[in-house]
Amino acid sequence: MTDTLPTEQAPALADFSSFNLHSLLGQALAKNGFEKPTQVQQRAIPTILARQNLLVSAKTGSGKTLAFLLPTLHHLLVNANYYAGTRALVLVPTRELGQQIYLQCQQLLEGSPLKAGLITGGEDFKKQQTLLRRNTAVIIATPGRLLELLTLDVAPFENLETLILDEADRMLDMGFSEDVLTIAKHCNEQRQSLLFSATLTHAGVLKMADKLLKRFELIALNTLRDELPHIAQQIVLTDDTAHKQKVLAWLLENETYTKAIVFSNSRLQASALCDPLRDKGLRAIVLHGEMDQKERQRVMKLFRDGVVNILVATDLAARGLDIKEINLVINFEVPRNGINYLHRIGRTGRSDETGLTITLVKHTEWNLMASIERFLRQNFIRRKIDELAGKFQGPKKLKASGKTVGGKKKVEAKKEKAPKVKVRHRDQKNIGKRRVPKAKAPEA
Ligand code: AMP
Repeated sequence: MTDTLPTEQAPALADFSSFNLHSLLGQALAKNGFEKPTQVQQRAIPTILARQNLLVSAKTGSGKTLAFLLPTLHHLLVNANYYAGTRALVLVPTRELGQQIYLQCQQLLEGSPLKAGLITGGEDFKKQQTLLRRNTAVIIATPGRLLELLTLDVAPFENLETLILDEADRMLDMGFSEDVLTIAKHCNEQRQSLLFSATLTHAGVLKMADKLLKRFELIALNTLRDELPHIAQQIVLTDDTAHKQKVLAWLLENETYTKAIVFSNSRLQASALCDPLRDKGLRAIVLHGEMDQKERQRVMKLFRDGVVNILVATDLAARGLDIKEINLVINFEVPRNGINYLHRIGRTGRSDETGLTITLVKHTEWNLMASIERFLRQNFIRRKIDELAGKFQGPKKLKASGKTVGGKKKVEAKKEKAPKVKVRHRDQKNIGKRRVPKAKAPEA
């Protein structure tokens, strides 16, 4: 996964002609009066043309349909193959959305031999079956009906080149998760996959992306504030791990919360954090990926039932965790990237309850924290705890990106200054060493 820079970095919107799309598409755009690409089109089209997998958060009405249709159809048109079965599949949550995309697709393919087809519930089953058998290049479908057709012995997607999931969050909310995964299993494994969602903070969407896209580029068009207006984001600057431990205990003793999760980047750290908290009388328990299933379930039950109210967990363990009343999330370490950050904070503020997220940041984590802020287009609130004020107050000089000035150079300079260890020539190999004969196996 690569975190793409936020949109304020994007250059001024270019013209559709800068994408060098197939002439038929250019004509269709001109005919329909589309002149300049919208933000999502500007950012997604080059990545899709480069045949990369992509996860995009963009709201309805942002122009996302053309953002995936234009590069996908371009690819089909320039690599003409009219007998390859279905080459692009768009899955949508509703008939209405399917209909809209189908119409837009037909407009774009006007004058081309490539055909598009729509498969949704409530329409003629036999006709749809024929669509799948007749080399229909682009199929737009709702998952339920498509799956019904796939159970009949057709294998229309073995040459599929692009799979698109539109409004993935809605599809999951409507209970299509399993259907979508089953359909994906029918598709060519070498395909490109594109996932569009109104939000990235839907835990199911990130899970689906991990399963279907594996490696992917990410374009986040919503700010974190758009996504999670009800969750406050704070950071506390800290000096080192020992200082972090004190701050953590203080927060857990002084904040108001029903349930809290403390995230750590490693299993060892998570285990090490738990005992000192318990010694202070806090009701904490640890959860990590190497615990067996039974043990995990026991821990989850204790947390769910409120017997313990603090869960110290690693990222892996906490994925997909859906527990009510978690209103405090503390990142003991800065997560490794923006997506992990979203995964973590998505544990709180469920169903629009309010929540608070606090990240403990030491100087070596500053730049990572700054890149997450930039990625999510949000400045976290700096919070000071007077009783535990540390020495680290943030870097003295910052780049426009929010990162430390000269941070890298300093690290490199340190590396250069590492004391030289004299290596003698004869120590480098076995030079000058006596050969010791291998011990003989004892005779039977
Ligand atoms: P969508 O988000 O794909 O549902 O698109 C919302 C509306 O924006 C649709 O009516 C599109 O026809 C329109 N639209 C999409 N791209 C552009 C563009 N580049 N310029 C003007 N209108 C657009």
